[in-house]
Amino acid sequence: MKLKKNDNVIVIAGKDKGKKGKIVRIFPVDGRVIVEGLNLRKKRQRPKKQGEKGQTLEMAHPLEVSNVQLFCASCGKGVRVGAKVGGKKKIRICRGCGKEI
Ligand SMILES: [Zn+2]
Repeated sequence: MKLKKNDNVIVIAGKDKGKKGKIVRIFPVDGRVIVEGLNLRKKRQRPKKQGEKGQTLEMAHPLEVSNVQLFCASCGKGVRVGAKVGGKKKIRICRGCGKEI
């Protein structure tokens, strides 16, 4: 998986298409990521005690990695990522502008 936690991504498919957010969690095995504030689904919570009201919570659900792209600030859009070896470590570069991302 080319994406990492705290990456800024843009959604390219689905109901949140065009929205941006930060990756807060990664599921490499499933190929899914959770993006802060995106793909929210409502979840009803039953009252725990008698006399209490039930709550509706909005939770971010995982998105398929294929439905998001890394957002490049200089290109101003979602881009494909390339890899380059810089010194000892591998760096990710934007395929659009060639900058490190
Ligand atoms: Zn770029």
